[in-house]
Amino acid sequence: MIRMYNRRRFVGIAAVAAAAVLPGKSQAPPGAKPALRLGLILGAGNDPDAAIRKVHDLGFPTCQVGVSSFAPEMAERLRAALGRYNIEATSLVSGGPGPEIYDFYQGPLTIGLVPRQYRDARIAQIKRTSDFAKLCGVPAVQTHCGFIPENPNDPVYKETVDAIRTVAAYCRRNGQNFRCETGQETPITLFRAIKDVGLDNVGVNFDAANLILYGKANPVDALDILGPFVQGIHAKDGLYPANARELGREVPIGQGKVDFPSFIRRLKEIGYRGPLTIEREISGPKQTEDVRAAKIFLEKLTG
Ligand code: MG
Repeated sequence: MIRMYNRRRFVGIAAVAAAAVLPGKSQAPPGAKPALRLGLILGAGNDPDAAIRKVHDLGFPTCQVGVSSFAPEMAERLRAALGRYNIEATSLVSGGPGPEIYDFYQGPLTIGLVPRQYRDARIAQIKRTSDFAKLCGVPAVQTHCGFIPENPNDPVYKETVDAIRTVAAYCRRNGQNFRCETGQETPITLFRAIKDVGLDNVGVNFDAANLILYGKANPVDALDILGPFVQGIHAKDGLYPANARELGREVPIGQGKVDFPSFIRRLKEIGYRGPLTIEREISGPKQTEDVRAAKIFLEKLTG
């Protein structure tokens, strides 16, 4: 069974992130009409061929993919599947090792490069992801860096920036971009961190819903800050937190607080030409049903 990528299911799994060539602008063939192509994020599991076939059968030209094995044989199978179905993997998604609990209380202690307890292991994991991505010909690695401290004087802020620089430099040597996925930090904090890292291959995978789910920002407005760094998009929808203790609820695209017409209009205004990668964090037939509906919804806005 092929599961689409679900972050919460991904906990503890050795994952890899995929890539994209700089801000997406270089992905359009010369002379082609600029377009925001659609994509899907999913896990390759033990059967990359079936996963990529699913992307193809749903009618997407691109995907972001996570893997559960870094074996060279698995890289070859993924690379072959991408070629067979003519799918462009725009990034390889890295997560773990160790627990990553996506909430307000355990999240700061477990997610990404922020917690000291897991930092070295995650740096190693991202490096493995980068090497795997290189074998597959995938041009970017992405991950959640975590609840980066708002206070730039906090020692953990500097440590996190140093960790991001370490992995981004590694990706750079492999000819890849490194993308921080939005969510746990405010847009200005991510902007500051990227500037402080100071490498030209660091960008953002902008998850439209996460900023809402975490109560951090309106995604349309956040593009005013993060726009120059956007290299990938997660097309996802959600609601703001309903209480002080729990994240907001993810919902099907079009049913949440993301103003997709304004969001896509703004992406076009800032010159974004990369993919819109649909993410739906549930599993089973309803997930596929929602992805199909999201595709139709987004095609009306991007065409
Ligand atoms: Mg996401």
